[in-house]
Amino acid sequence: MNFLFRRMLNAPRLLGSRIKEFSGRPGSMLGLVESRCPICHGVFALDHSGPLAAACPACRASMPRRDAGYCPHCGELTADPHAPCTPCGRCLNETPPWADFRFHGVFEGALREALHRAKFSEDSACLALLASILDSLCRELPEADAIVPMPLHPARLRARGFNQCREMARLAAHRRKLPIRDDLLLRTRSAPPQTSLSRRDRLTNLNHVFAASPLAGGLRLLLVDDTATTGTSLRKGAEALIRAGAVRVDAVVIARAGRHDTGGY
Ligand SMILES: [Zn+2]
Ligand SMILES: [Zn+2]
Repeated sequence: MNFLFRRMLNAPRLLGSRIKEFSGRPGSMLGLVESRCPICHGVFALDHSGPLAAACPACRASMPRRDAGYCPHCGELTADPHAPCTPCGRCLNETPPWADFRFHGVFEGALREALHRAKFSEDSACLALLASILDSLCRELPEADAIVPMPLHPARLRARGFNQCREMARLAAHRRKLPIRDDLLLRTRSAPPQTSLSRRDRLTNLNHVFAASPLAGGLRLLLVDDTATTGTSLRKGAEALIRAGAVRVDAVVIARAGRHDTGGY
């Protein structure tokens, strides 16, 4: 409710950010549509389609789709961004529980800024941009029955009052005309941030953190998260859904971070 209320308060500002300008130059009667970039707040001419259309050209350029230099099964980044996509050591040892995996880009630049604003400021324009990215990634995957957002522990949700991942997933689900099912996967206890733990502790830290409902039985699900660092939470969440009977789980995240890149996020 809090988020909806803020959206209502922001509505006039958002409407005002899109203006039609007629400059008087020949051809301008076609109406050049200008928009305000949700990330840098610069005004630019809307001349682009696709998931990043709401961002200005400079911000778009700093949040490209990663097209090489990652593990195709989990998105683990390699140091060379131009290296061919090859499975990482972890995926060679332990097949991920999902059937397919998609992510947009690296947790840096304008993408990092948009994710920060969505999380800490509940910025509705940034949430809409990120939902557009999420929607586009989901369209690359086979048809699903529902979208499942990665849950926050109820205590953390109460403290923050807002789960940005759920909001992005809700907007993307609306575009895809899919139900959002935040009743299928629950976080049953809090875990310390993965990045603060040793590798061995990290691997055991998330056991039994997630519980899935038997209502997941027989469903094809898109499990979505805004950012993945180690990918361990996503694996544990997907495993819980499969144990509960989901017939297929695909995983989608907006940003993949290096292991030490998410400080403060
Ligand atoms: Zn911008
Ligand atoms: Zn991998």
